[in-house]
Amino acid sequence: MKTPSGIELHPAIQAGGTIEALRKAAITCRACPLWKNATQTVFGEGPSRATLMFVGEQPGDQEDLAGHPFVGPAGQLLTRAMAAAGIPREQVYVTNAVKHFKFELRGKRRLHKKPIDAEITACYAWLKREIQVVAPSLLIALGATAVRSLLGRATPVMANRGKLQEYAPDMSLLITVHPSFLLRVPEQEKDNEYRQFVTDLKLARRFLRST
Ligand code: SF4
Repeated sequence: MKTPSGIELHPAIQAGGTIEALRKAAITCRACPLWKNATQTVFGEGPSRATLMFVGEQPGDQEDLAGHPFVGPAGQLLTRAMAAAGIPREQVYVTNAVKHFKFELRGKRRLHKKPIDAEITACYAWLKREIQVVAPSLLIALGATAVRSLLGRATPVMANRGKLQEYAPDMSLLITVHPSFLLRVPEQEKDNEYRQFVTDLKLARRFLRST
């Protein structure tokens, strides 16, 4: 849809006010070029009134094919770390800063490619709506792209991880690494990095809604 002055409106602005309505509208999003090569939009999932919202970078190869976030190796590691931190995955909302898989082809393999600022900015319109609808008490930014999206500027992850900071009224932010980082570190560092990740996630546990 265009404004009377001919400016194309981002579809996230026109979408309805529920997660289901947003998910449906995002299926046909063309607000940046990433939809062209991806299989499908991978929207956030989880309770629409979750108190914790995890924000990753973008869907990976398996997420792109399955249409669900955090189902590949990094997602499985995240689920294990959540459990170790006392956070049931079914109680949290998980999403990504960018909703289409960006990759480059190497033979038959689709290798992850980092989204650029313009793509992160274009897709922030969806993330912003998800945050408005879910209204979590805590946002957990997993890695540099999530931090860039949520803060609107590049911010070092390691220097800011593991600290609770105010994000908006009644909403805090916790920065930590992306679980794919734990898959990439040298073997001898994996246990230590995993423990540190779980320690970061334990800070989030107190924001779980008591039932
Ligand atoms: S990555 Fe985001 S902004 Fe770009 S086309 Fe996909 S849903 Fe739209």
